[in-house]
Amino acid sequence: MLTHAKQLVIGVLGMQGDVHAHQRALEAAGARTVIVREPDELTQVDGLVLPGGESTTIGMLLERFGLMEPLRRRAVEGLPIFGTCAGVILLADDIAGSPQPRIGGLDVTVVRNAYGRQVDSFERELTVPSLGAAPLRGVFIRAPRIHRVGRAVEVLSETDAGPVLVRQGPLLGATFHPELTPDSRVHAAFLALVRDP
Ligand code: GLN
Repeated sequence: MLTHAKQLVIGVLGMQGDVHAHQRALEAAGARTVIVREPDELTQVDGLVLPGGESTTIGMLLERFGLMEPLRRRAVEGLPIFGTCAGVILLADDIAGSPQPRIGGLDVTVVRNAYGRQVDSFERELTVPSLGAAPLRGVFIRAPRIHRVGRAVEVLSETDAGPVLVRQGPLLGATFHPELTPDSRVHAAFLALVRDP
């Protein structure tokens, strides 16, 4: 029973993307949420979610709002961060063919928009053994593919197109959008990781 555990405060980066859907999923999993747009707000959170959107735009806004450096520093200090879609691109150490600004820290190579125009968005059932036997519905929207994972990276779910959910210490990355289904198991797994990194 976690009823006596301190309620976690999770920030959701509020630059772009499904901010409210992430808040709903995190709250369903038991956290309190705050929207993070300024460096000061980063100091109040136990963990942070980076929603999807356009990674180049989000990266540019992070620099413009003075959040990039504080975020890199917090990531190095071990702040748990969960990046979804564009969010996992921002966490990737290597973005194939792109010098775009990123936070980094996750030892993977990602390829942006790697499913091609014909399949801009699609859904498929995912198997995530650590989340139980029931399949998870994965919503992929102009999704990246993870082409390489470093030794320290644990693959929590993969398809024939490669890893789709990965973890490296306090960093969690999904190439899909778990906030767009009512199933909050991935957000709950992130909260567990925040409690026990
Ligand atoms: N295609 C976007 C990018 O490259 C990611 C899409 C998403 O977050 N749904 O940044």
